[in-house]
Order: sequence, then structure tokens, then C-alpha cells
Amino acid sequence: MNKQHYDFLIVGSGLYGSVFAHEAMKRGKSVLVVEKRPHKGGNLYCLERDGIQIHYYGAHIFHTKSKAIWDYCNELSEFAFYINSPVANFNGRLYNLPFNMNTFYQLWGTVTPAQAMEKIESQRLKLNRDPENLEEQGLCLAGKDIFDTLIKGYTEKQWGRPCSALPPSILKRVPFRFRYDNNYFNDPYQGIPKGGYNTLIDALLDGAEVLLNTDFNENRQLADLADKVLYTGTIDSYFDFSEGELNYRSERFELVRYDEENHQGVAVMNYTDTKTPYTRAIEHKHFEPKDGINATWVSYEYPMEYSKSAEPYYPVNDQRNTRLYETYKAMAQKEEKLLLGGRLAQYSYFDMDKTVEAALKLVQQVMPEA
Ligand SMILES: Cc1cc2nc3c(=O)[nH]c(=O)nc-3n(C[C@H](O)[C@H](O)[C@H](O)COP(=O)(O)OP(=O)(O)OC[C@H]3O[C@@H](n4cnc5c(N)ncnc54)[C@H](O)[C@@H]3O)c2cc1C
Repeated sequence: MNKQHYDFLIVGSGLYGSVFAHEAMKRGKSVLVVEKRPHKGGNLYCLERDGIQIHYYGAHIFHTKSKAIWDYCNELSEFAFYINSPVANFNGRLYNLPFNMNTFYQLWGTVTPAQAMEKIESQRLKLNRDPENLEEQGLCLAGKDIFDTLIKGYTEKQWGRPCSALPPSILKRVPFRFRYDNNYFNDPYQGIPKGGYNTLIDALLDGAEVLLNTDFNENRQLADLADKVLYTGTIDSYFDFSEGELNYRSERFELVRYDEENHQGVAVMNYTDTKTPYTRAIEHKHFEPKDGINATWVSYEYPMEYSKSAEPYYPVNDQRNTRLYETYKAMAQKEEKLLLGGRLAQYSYFDMDKTVEAALKLVQQVMPEA
């Protein structure tokens, strides 16, 4: 350690912890960042192979409606233009995503929005009661062809259960776009940091002292080194799971190198059938295309149950987990020195822009004077 005492101990070098560290340093505060993984950046971390930035914990595409957040990130790292236009693969047949006029043409040969609307309407399940499960919900919202071809298989692989055994609340709405437009996100600002997300994290943590391979929960004495602790890990592990374990869905990424210049022609291919065991294949070089690299890296995503040895990716926000999280949150509020932030400590899914926004908000609350 470079100092005997710090203003902040920041547990976790993900985007949340890194934004907070950056802002604290800008305000003249001292920070010590501890990270249990062997690298900085949390789930944004990129591994470089053959000059390609591999999104090691799954594809990350920055998108936001907020000009302020876009400007904030672009000042730290230059962003490359990237528009996400994923393709769905159902038993070898390809469909554009999100559901738009191209998709409807590929499904039915419909050409005008009116024809597509009529087709969807004719296929919708009409119930005179609320849908009881995700299968019914999907058929009501999307109609049979879209549900069976593009939603059902993917969702069942994602959750490891049949749609008929999943709650309808998982599928709140099915957005249709009656334009020929494959731009997945509706946000005006989209891109990927040039040179990968490590450039953004390195800029945020420039000047910070970072201890890698250090699990705070196994080194609790570190808290004595600082006035305040910002904890961005899982909230149940902070309390040694005393009230029970929170559930997550996890994923396994299988990384494959091909001696080819271009393997699938698109960054994101979703496999929506049930016979393919993975949900997505990500070809990383398409995030930041470069000529002259005669190799390519593809990661195949296999959803799986969470255990303590797996990565906690997606919270399962059902009643039991929500109640358990509230219990832990109340316990945390009694600890004067403790600040909680980020997707794990708040047991929520946040896109990157919301993560930056939330970290900046905490900075305002904790350091309003500066
Ligand atoms: C598969 C996947 C794909 C995604 N794709 C997108 C996307 O395309 N676009 C988008 O906007 N967002 C995406 N996200 C969301 C994005 O990853 C999050 O917004 C962001 O990572 C949140 O940052 P964080 O700092 O809260 O969490 P994390 O990135 O998880 O960082 C937390 C850090 O804390 C460390 N840590 C935890 N516990 C301890 C401990 N006890 N001691 C020390 N260190 C600890 C962890 O190792 C980790 O490095 C995706 C998320 C997932 C899971």
C-alpha cells in the first residue's frame, strides 16, 4: 500500500467502482481499489488476441439516450462507430432482429406494414383471462410464428426451463418495428471504445492504486484503511450469506479461434432453435473491424445455473430474491461507513450508461461540496 490511510476503499474495479474512483480523485480524494479478479474492468474487460479485442464476459455494446453520459465516456476514450444489427438463426434459416419489416418479410413475404400487422394480429392468441405463463404471454403478444421461431427456444435455453413453466412477467412486451430497420437499439448514441473497453477503464483508473487478486471478503481488515468503503460486489457475500443466498443466472463462454478472416459475417448471431445448445455466437472482430487479420475469435454463450464458483450475471428478481435483497439492504443501511453501488450490490441489471449515471449520482451525494 502506498499510503496508511485513504478517503475511500473501493471494492471492485468494474465500471461503477472505476467511475467513482475517477471522480473521487478529481476531487482530490485518495482511493484504494481492491479487485478479486486478476484484471481491472469487471465485466467490461477485453482480452486481446490476434489484435482483436475479445469481450471476455460477453458482448458489450455501449448505447444511451443521454448526451451527457455519451460525452462523459467519449472524453475518456474515443468511441468507434458501431450499430448493433444481430441476426437470428433458427435451424439454419436467418432472420433480422429486432422484429422489423425485414423479419416479417423473411417469415411471411409480407411487404407493407399493413400486411405485417394483419399477419401478426391473425396469429395472436386471444384469451379472456390473464396469461398464466410465458408461453401464453408470448403467444398473446407476438403471435405463433414469431413466438415459435424467434422467442421460445432462446428463452427456454436462457432460463433452463420450458416457457410454460416460466412466469409471464419475464416477457413484459414484444417491440415491433414497422420499418425496414435492423438497428437493434433505439438510442441515438451507440459505439464501442476504440481499442476495447480496457482503454475506458484505464482512463478512469489513471493514478489510482489498484490491488488485483484481492477479495475484500477474505481481507476485511482493509476496511480499516479508509474513511468510507464503496462495495460493488454481491450483497449477500458481504454479509457472509447470513440470511440466505441470492439467485442468479450464469453463463459459460466457450472461446474458439478460427484461421479465417471472417467466420459468420456479423458480430452477434442469436440461435433461437432448441437443437443448438448455445444462445449466441459472438464474432468479436466485427465490433471494431480491421483489415488484414487472417484469424477470428468467436465466443459461444451457454446459459447455466449459478453456483458460488460461477459468475453471477443476471439477477432473478422474483419475490423470494426481492425480499432477501431488501433484508440485506436494510442491514447495509445500518453500517455507517458502507456505501453500496453497482449491479451486484444493488441486485439489478443495469446497462453501462445507467451504471455510469448511478455512480455519478452517488458521487454527488457523497462529495456534494466539490
Ligand atoms: C453478459 C452481459 C452482457 C452485457 N452486455 C451489455 C451491453 O451490451 N450493453 C450495456 O450497456 N451493458 C451490458 N451489460 C451490463 C454491464 O456489464 C454492466 O452495466 C456493468 O458491468 C456494471 O458494472 P459494475 O461495476 O456494477 O459491475 P461489474 O462489472 O460486475 O464489476 C464488479 C467488480 O467487483 C469485483 N468484486 C466483486 N466482489 C468483490 C470482492 N469481494 N472483492 C473484490 N472485488 C470484488 C468483481 O470481480 C468485478 O470486477 C452486460 C452484462 C452482462 C452480464
